[in-house]
Amino acid sequence: MKQSILVINCGSSSLKFAVLSDEGTVTLVEGMADRLNTNQSTITFKHQGQKTQTTLDEGSHKSVVTHIKQWLDQHNDIKRTLVGVGHRVVHGGETFSRSVLINQEVIDGINECAKFAPLHNPAHAKGIEVAFELFPGLPQIAVFDTAFHQTLLPEHYLYPIPMRFYRDHHFRKYGFHGTSYRYISHFFSSIVPNSHRQGVLIAHLGNGASVCAVNNGQSSDTSMGITPLEGLMMGTRSGSVDPSLVAFIGQADNINSEKALSLLNKKSGLLGISELSNDCRTLEEAMLLGDSKAKLALDMFAVRTAKHLASSATTLDKVDHVIFTGGIGENSPYLRDLICSHLRVFNICIDSQLNQNAPRGDVSNISASDSHPQTWIIPTNEELMIALDALQLIR
Ligand code: ADP
Repeated sequence: MKQSILVINCGSSSLKFAVLSDEGTVTLVEGMADRLNTNQSTITFKHQGQKTQTTLDEGSHKSVVTHIKQWLDQHNDIKRTLVGVGHRVVHGGETFSRSVLINQEVIDGINECAKFAPLHNPAHAKGIEVAFELFPGLPQIAVFDTAFHQTLLPEHYLYPIPMRFYRDHHFRKYGFHGTSYRYISHFFSSIVPNSHRQGVLIAHLGNGASVCAVNNGQSSDTSMGITPLEGLMMGTRSGSVDPSLVAFIGQADNINSEKALSLLNKKSGLLGISELSNDCRTLEEAMLLGDSKAKLALDMFAVRTAKHLASSATTLDKVDHVIFTGGIGENSPYLRDLICSHLRVFNICIDSQLNQNAPRGDVSNISASDSHPQTWIIPTNEELMIALDALQLIR
């Protein structure tokens, strides 16, 4: 019988979902609820190419999952194939180094990690609780964004601060986008079988952006830290800056450190520099019309991405492949070209025609013929990875 998985990605103000069948390769229905906990919450279902949107009377996580359940009750052909629910969980701390079947102990662990992801983990725990209530009898699986990076060595994950902070509070680099990196690494080994014995650099560039070095199939370094603020310049996040800036910004704007950090998270990055938008596409359009701040923001994004890729490369024996993924990585020939132009020291050279004409949503090798590190575009698919993990654990 066909087996499908309901994948739930529960955020604080939105909930994305999908039902995937055929080993995660077929999407039977997908959708999203947003503006949760306001009186403007809506839920959208996309089924057989048609979108339907409904306003939610009550925008709670429970009412969203109840709506999904009601929709499934009306589509019994899909509902009867469900064998489990897979949840994306942002922070698994040091407790979770792989995906797990959820029981009370796991829920307690997710709640304990909430101190590092106060916006995300409580929402995930809520989503899990509601899903248990509404889908009794279906096994639930948690898939953690941090898990893939649990293979980092202490010299890479420790911050050079007094050791007691790690000992007593587990302050360390955790890294994120792990489900995306694991998917890319797993998928890549299906098209380049010996890549599991090679050095691979992956740039996941979206509104949130990070890089990861994968050595012999395992994460050896990544740019995000104890939170997703560290590393690359992003849509609205500054990425790595001198931490003294928190105090300077606090003094300049007469705000406390929490507000200064919020400014680094929400008002910085591409948005902060361009003073226009956090959206790469908007900035590329503005740059073409002569907006010099939009160009500067994109140039800074490219330089910083290249620097972090180069830095992560120090954990590899050699760089065999560079892979671009995420909304920007998959869709912006301009930034791919600019980033690679800053990585000539690694002999990374792309073919500009292949880069420009890479088909959207598909795998492409965009390397110039004489480039040893091969450069690829691979669309990520975190939902598929969650469904595969769920199926494996259930079986
Ligand atoms: P998130 O981190 O929210 O998942 P995404 O991976 O969806 O982000 O990526 C969103 C980013 O991708 C935005 O900055 C958007 O402008 C950019 N993007 C999407 N399509 C294009 C395109 N055709 N050209 C340039 N940038 C694009």
